[in-house]
Amino acid sequence: MSFKTLDDIGDVSGKAVLVREDLNVPMADGKVTDDTRLRATVATLTELADKGAKVLVLAHFGRPKGERSEANSLAQIVPSLSDVLGRPVAFIDDCAGEAAEAAVAALPAGAIAVLENTRFHKGEEKNDPALVAAIAKLGAAYVNDAFSAAHRAHASTEGLARVLPAYAGRAMEAELTALEKALGQPERPVAAVVGGAKVSTKLDVLKHLVSKVDHLIIGGGMANTFLAARGVDVGKSLCEHDLTGTAEEILDNADKAGCTVHLPYDVVVSKEFAANPASLRTCNVHEVAADEMILDVGPQAVEALGDVLKTCKTLVWNGPMGAFEIEPFDAATVALARTAAALTKEGSLISVAGGGDTVAALNHAGAAGDFSYISTAGGAFLEWMEGKELPGVAALG
Ligand code: ADP
Ligand code: MG
Repeated sequence: MSFKTLDDIGDVSGKAVLVREDLNVPMADGKVTDDTRLRATVATLTELADKGAKVLVLAHFGRPKGERSEANSLAQIVPSLSDVLGRPVAFIDDCAGEAAEAAVAALPAGAIAVLENTRFHKGEEKNDPALVAAIAKLGAAYVNDAFSAAHRAHASTEGLARVLPAYAGRAMEAELTALEKALGQPERPVAAVVGGAKVSTKLDVLKHLVSKVDHLIIGGGMANTFLAARGVDVGKSLCEHDLTGTAEEILDNADKAGCTVHLPYDVVVSKEFAANPASLRTCNVHEVAADEMILDVGPQAVEALGDVLKTCKTLVWNGPMGAFEIEPFDAATVALARTAAALTKEGSLISVAGGGDTVAALNHAGAAGDFSYISTAGGAFLEWMEGKELPGVAALG
């Protein structure tokens, strides 16, 4: 995977540079409730502005489906972005067209401006060459800094890279470098932790990983389907019984590829899905009663899994080991996350994790800060774990 970065962009002084960022932040009552994505833009936007470029930020916001709407206007993000950047941010109320061209011409060198929601144009999601050409007229170069939108081949994520000199921004560069270390050319042995609710949402991830990693640790609700495939009675647990055949196939393929699959052998069960329930107990997977649910991996398995991580050089993690939102079913996720964090801190493990609930779980464990890299990309991260080529990344190559 080779791509140009801001190190290759040359002299941008006085030139307009189009930068695709992810400004799709959560909002409530007109306020940004989590500015993680805004903070991720700082390195690229300030570097280009400090080099004297007119920095034109392209992004989508929500799902306006090609129609203008106040609710989806990026104007409401501008004050928060300006706060995070610590400098003024202008707003241009279209990402293409004559008025936008005039506004860009009037911008001083070194200014940062957000252009209105790319999805106000129907051509954005269709990657329409006419829209691509119209946006491209605004700038002399294109920088893609939004890995989280790179799984979509849209005008602002893919099309522009085909018609302008294209570069990866600093956040994109960091993400691609981390992911390459984790699954592209990893130091072996490599372990993958895959958890979460269902096998069906992560089938492609599991299929891809067995051919890539040395140890596949399966936890969460999806472990139940694998246990059922091995003849374990999982009681009332979340389990996709129609997928036990697929689970068996994955286990067979792992075997052929020399990938060791780790399933829990003790589990934490309960009769109700509630915090600290009276019916809480820990047992062997073969002792789950008909009216019980498996809600977490047991302590003995967690200890053994920690020992597996100690033998590994690289870890990729997606999906919590249990129903971590409810105590004490966060125990396995928290313990394994802390082990991974400690090994990373010590320098013996490269650890990369991603996924909405996974990031929340690792934060809850106080472990996220010590991981080598935490991806907040969601869908793009999962597609990357499936081994798919992301169009926005491919277009940079
Ligand atoms: P991510 O968002 O990181 O990709 P998922 O959405 O796949 O992760 O999975 C997270 C969900 O899986 C959580 O809501 C968690 O409660 C649920 N989960 C994990 N283990 C179990 C279990 N044993 N039974 C039911 N739900 C579970
Ligand atoms: Mg989720």
